[in-house]
Amino acid sequence: MSTLRFHALKETLNRKPVKIEETEKRSSLFGANVFNETTMRQSLTKDAYKGVMDAIEKGTKINRNIADQISSAMKDWALSKGVTHYTHWFQPLTGATAEKHDAFFETIGNGLAIEKFGGDQLVQQEPDASSFPSGGIRNTFEARGYTAWDPTSPAFIYETTLCIPTVFVAYTGEALDYKTPLLRALQAVDKAAVGVAKYFDKNVKKVNASLGWEQEYFLIDSALVASRPDIILTGRTLLGHSSAKGQQLDDHYFGTIPSRAMAFMRDLEIECMLLGIPVKTRHNEVAPNQFELAPIYEEANLAVDHNSLLMDVMGKIAVRHNFKVLLHEKPFAGINGSGKHNNWSLSTDTGINLLSPGKTPMSNLQFLTFFINTIKAVYEYEELLRASVASAGNDHRLGANEAPPAVISVFIGEQLTKVLKELEGVTKGKLSPEEKTDLKLNVVGKIPEILLDNTDRNRTSPFAFTGNKFEFRAVGSTANCANPMTVLNSIVAKQLIDFKKEVDALIDKKDLKKDEAIFNVLREYIKSSKKILFEGNGYGDEWQAEAKKRGLSNNKTTPVALKAKISKKAIALFEELGVMKKVEIDARYEIEVEEYIMRVQIEGRALGDIARNHVVPTAVKYQNVLIENVTGLKDIYGKDFKKYAKEQLGLIEEISEHIEAINSGVTKMTNERKKANVVDDIEKKASLYCNKVKPFFDEIRYHCDKLELLIDDELWPLTKYREMLFTR
Ligand code: ADP
Ligand code: MG
Repeated sequence: MSTLRFHALKETLNRKPVKIEETEKRSSLFGANVFNETTMRQSLTKDAYKGVMDAIEKGTKINRNIADQISSAMKDWALSKGVTHYTHWFQPLTGATAEKHDAFFETIGNGLAIEKFGGDQLVQQEPDASSFPSGGIRNTFEARGYTAWDPTSPAFIYETTLCIPTVFVAYTGEALDYKTPLLRALQAVDKAAVGVAKYFDKNVKKVNASLGWEQEYFLIDSALVASRPDIILTGRTLLGHSSAKGQQLDDHYFGTIPSRAMAFMRDLEIECMLLGIPVKTRHNEVAPNQFELAPIYEEANLAVDHNSLLMDVMGKIAVRHNFKVLLHEKPFAGINGSGKHNNWSLSTDTGINLLSPGKTPMSNLQFLTFFINTIKAVYEYEELLRASVASAGNDHRLGANEAPPAVISVFIGEQLTKVLKELEGVTKGKLSPEEKTDLKLNVVGKIPEILLDNTDRNRTSPFAFTGNKFEFRAVGSTANCANPMTVLNSIVAKQLIDFKKEVDALIDKKDLKKDEAIFNVLREYIKSSKKILFEGNGYGDEWQAEAKKRGLSNNKTTPVALKAKISKKAIALFEELGVMKKVEIDARYEIEVEEYIMRVQIEGRALGDIARNHVVPTAVKYQNVLIENVTGLKDIYGKDFKKYAKEQLGLIEEISEHIEAINSGVTKMTNERKKANVVDDIEKKASLYCNKVKPFFDEIRYHCDKLELLIDDELWPLTKYREMLFTR
C-alpha cells in the first residue's frame, strides 16, 4: 500500500475517542452563551427590554437611546464571559456565513484604553464587502453594502467573539444576503395567515412559520481524507471503486453509533446547547459513516440561523476529533447521499399549530384550510420550489435516481386522501342543513386529532404531510435553508391572500355563510390542484411517465431548474409580496448559475489532475512491473514464454487501454471546458458545463475505477472507499 495510505490507515486505527466530560445537565447549559430573553430581562432596563421585545414581536424600530442601553448591557455580559471581540454575523450569497471581528478594545489617548461597544456598532456596520457575490447589484447602483442588526435572532458568543446576527443589504435597499428576503417572506406569510386564521379565531394577531431541519452528514477520518484531493477540493469523491460491502446489509441505519463518532456528537451537542441550538436527535443514517442530527423545531428565521451556525460549528468540532465532516449531497457514489429535510408548519400566537387537526369540526376546518392552501401553493409553484433546492451537489440526488425525484409532488396519506375526495363532492353555492351536518359529523369531524401515527411514511415523496407539518425533503445537505424557506413561505402567503379574497367575495356577493364560502373555495382548490398529489413510489419510472402526463415539471439539472426563479410568475409573486424586486431576483439567479459553473469547473479540473497525476502514473508503474515480469519470463522460457505470461500480457494491454481512455477523456473534457470558458452568456455557459463537460466525469471515472481494481493495492495512492467507509 502506498506510504501515504498506509500511514493514514495506521493513524486512523490507532485513534481513541476523545474524552468528553459532562458535569452539568444539558438543560442548565442551554443558551448559556446566548443573549436571550432571560439574559435581557436580567440585564436591561424595563424600557430597553420592551424596546427589543416590541422589535421582535411587532417589528418596531429600536431608537438610538435604547440601542445604546442594549449594546452596553450586551458588552458587559460578553466581557463577563471572557469575550474580546464582536462581529456582525451574516449570510452572504456564498451560502457560507461571514464575519469580520472587531475588538471591544479602543484607545482613548494618554496611553489609556477601554472596552467600548455602542449602539452604533450594534445596529449597523459596513463590512468591506466588495468580494461577496452581489450579482451586479452593487455595481448597478454604485452602492456599498451594510449589515444591520436582526433583533429576532439573539446575539451569541462563539470562540470568545460576540456574534450579532444581521441582515446584509445595499445602501439602496437591495438584499445582498439570504436572511433579508426570508424575513420579508415570513412577514408576508404572517400577515396572510393571520387574515385567514381570523375566520376561525378573532384573537389571532401573529402567525409564525416554524422550521425543524434534519441535517445529514458523513464523518471521515481526517488522515484518510488527506490522501483524497477530490474531497479536499470539492467535498466529494470524484472517483473510487465501490467497496465490496456498501450499505446493502442495512447494518448501519439506527445501529450502534461508533465510539469516536459518538464523542464528536456529544462534543457538538454540548456546544449547541451553549449556543441555544436545541439539538435533540442523533442517529446513524443508511450509509456507512453517515449520521443525522435534528433539533427541536423553532421559528423559521432562528432555525435557519441555527442551521447555518451548526454547519460551521460541526467543521470546527470535527477538527478536535480528527474527523472531516462531509456535508456534500453525494460524497460517495453507490451509497446514499445526504439531504436536509425541512419540516415546516405555521402556528398562531394563541398556541395553535395550523397544520394540526383539532378537537372540533371548526378547528378541523381551519386545519383543512391551511392544509389545502399549502397543497395548492405547491401545485401552482412546483417549479419554483424545485428551483429553490437546485445546486450542483443536489443534482446528484434529485433526478439521479436517489432521494426524492426532481418531480415535486405532495404525499398526504390514505386518510386525508379520503377526506379530500369527500370535500370534492360538496355542493356548489349554499349548502343544505343536512349536508352541513353530514360534513360536520362525517367528514371534518372524522379527522382524528392525532394524525401522526396514521400518516404512513412514504419516504420517496419530496413533500410529505407528516401528521402536523409538511416535510420538504428535497433540500440538499449543504443548503442554506433560507432559500427554500423563502420560497415556501412566499407561495403559501400568496395562496392565502388569494384564498381570503375568494372567500370574502363569496360571502359578500353570493351571500354565503363563512363556512359555506370556505367549503366552496376549498372544493375548487382540491379539483384544480389534485395533479400534485401522489401517494405511490416516487422513484419508479412509472411516476416519471405519469408526472409528465400530468404536466408536472421534471427539471433534472440545476441550469434547467434555476430558470423557474426568473419566470414571469416568480417575479410577479415576489414583487407582489414585497419579498424581492426584479433586480434582486435577477442578481440571485446570476449568482446561483455562476456558482453552478464554478463548482463543475473545479470538479473538472480536480478530476483531470487526479486522473493524470495520480492514476495514470500509478498505472504506468504497475504496467512496468508486469513488463519486467514478462521480459524475465521470456529470458527463462524463450519462445515459449507466452504460455506463462498470458495473464500478464492481457493486463498490460488492458492497462494501456484504460490509460488511453483516461487521457483522451481528460483531453476532450479540457477542450470542452475551454470552449465553455469563452462563452459570455452565463446560461449558455452553465448549460455547456452541464451537458458537454460533466458527462466526461463518469467516463473518466469509469476507467480510473477499473484501474483501481487491476492495479497492485501496494501502489494505489488514493485511500479506497472501503477504507474511508469502514475504518473506525
Ligand atoms: P423523521 O422525519 O426523521 O421521521 P420526525 O417526524 O420525528 O422525523 O420529525 C422530524 C423533525 O420535525 C424534528 O426535527 C422536529 O423538530 C420537526 N417538527 C416537529 N413538529 C414541527 C412543527 N410543527 N414545525 C416544524 N417542524 C416540526
Ligand atoms: Mg425527516
